[in-house]
Amino acid sequence: MASDCIFCKISTGEIPATIRYEDDQLIAFEDIDPQAPHHLLIVPRKHIRTTLDLTTADNQLIGHIYQVAGKLAHDLGFAEDGFRVVNNCNEGGGQAVWHIHFHLLGGRDMTWPPG
Ligand code: 5GP
Repeated sequence: MASDCIFCKISTGEIPATIRYEDDQLIAFEDIDPQAPHHLLIVPRKHIRTTLDLTTADNQLIGHIYQVAGKLAHDLGFAEDGFRVVNNCNEGGGQAVWHIHFHLLGGRDMTWPPG
């Protein structure tokens, strides 16, 4: 846990969020500024700064994140229409919160390439 991290504080309940799923490894909650009809953030409880900080010890965690993304898309009813899982890495990649997270976006057609 990093004391100045928004997502660590959401994970511990110190900052409120609309939680859609949680377990011992991760939490999934509604993005405060949604970019699609469905926009959740899937966030490991472990404070990992960026994708570049992942190690082989995190391999199971990343697989679990993708399984939860699919389950949430299914349970919230937008899996069949298609969805996107996005991880932004570093400022040039669009990262603004320095605790690794995966955007789960659905409920509209996605365009390619992303901006
Ligand atoms: P990034 O740009 O780092 O990939 O994405 C950060 C995301 O976190 C943004 O989509 C932003 O709207 C969301 N966000 C930032 N602060 C908060 C917050 O306090 N609560 C919630 N629910 N989402 C947040």
